[in-house]
Amino acid sequence: MRPSVKEAELPAVRGRYTENAPLGAVSWFRAGGTADVLFKPADLEDLAAFLSACPAQVPVTVLGVMSNMIIRDGGVRGVVIRLGGEFAGIEAREDHRVAASSMALDSSVAAKAAKAGIAGLEFFSGIPGTVGGALRMNAGCYGAETKDILIRAEAVDRQGRFHELTPDQMGMSYRHTEVPEDYIFTGAVFQGRPGDPAAIEAHMAGIKARRADTQPIREKTGGSTFANPTAEELVAAGQPEGTKTWQLIELAGCRGLRMGGALMS
Ligand SMILES: Cc1cc2nc3c(=O)[nH]c(=O)nc-3n(C[C@H](O)[C@H](O)[C@H](O)COP(=O)(O)OP(=O)(O)OC[C@H]3O[C@@H](n4cnc5c(N)ncnc54)[C@H](O)[C@@H]3O)c2cc1C
Repeated sequence: MRPSVKEAELPAVRGRYTENAPLGAVSWFRAGGTADVLFKPADLEDLAAFLSACPAQVPVTVLGVMSNMIIRDGGVRGVVIRLGGEFAGIEAREDHRVAASSMALDSSVAAKAAKAGIAGLEFFSGIPGTVGGALRMNAGCYGAETKDILIRAEAVDRQGRFHELTPDQMGMSYRHTEVPEDYIFTGAVFQGRPGDPAAIEAHMAGIKARRADTQPIREKTGGSTFANPTAEELVAAGQPEGTKTWQLIELAGCRGLRMGGALMS
């Protein structure tokens, strides 16, 4: 097994390192181990400087709020980056665009847009993650997804170089992007359209009510974490067109399966 990484092996930074930092305890599922070293950069320049100076053999993982992540009991080797408040800004603009840093919560982006009379971002209110997580997997719900509203994303790579990416360059498809794994998103600009704040709020309330009716939202559930299979995957598995993931789980006899404290709903 790969040896643990220690702070002494890492470059000097203005932000904060924490060795053996608990991750599972602050994750969505409240389960799992620690990070060898947790790094909270002071700002964008600190993040880029860290990446350019961090030895190539040290694994680097970036996390949002871990709503699409199960932390292994054995913990995460290397450096885990969690961006802090400096990366959580949201700005609603005159041209009905919303600029958000990558640690901003999707729900806060939706709320800010609603207040400014910017429609089209309501679906973000239903996703319990961050902008960075949404960019990584083209998050979406109820017929809308991140790529529909994305103008551009900003990222920094493992060498500390900055990039601006359009949705086409990101190869976005259903719950998937083709962006290199080492890219860390730092922000994005979304395009909305003029709307009436009250109507936007009503739309978001509808999304919330639909969730509450159909999902156990008060539990630590994976919710709609499972992506549905593609048409090609269904053909390969000999399943009828339109079969949903929950039906495959049922077919496999796994509905209600319990292991320790985890239950397949
Ligand atoms: C109850 C529940 C309901 C959900 N409903 C939906 C839904 O309707 N639609 C939907 O799409 N998803 C849904 N999800 C899944 C999840 O909320 C989304 O995938 C969300 O986008 C994850 O964001 P996060 O910040 O929690 O990312 P994390 O879980 O922390 O990370 C997920 C992935 O994104 C990467 N990542 C995170 N931040 C960055 C960054 N700044 N730069 C580069 N990579 C990054 C991580 O490395 C990891 O690979 C649901 C989850 C739960 C628990």
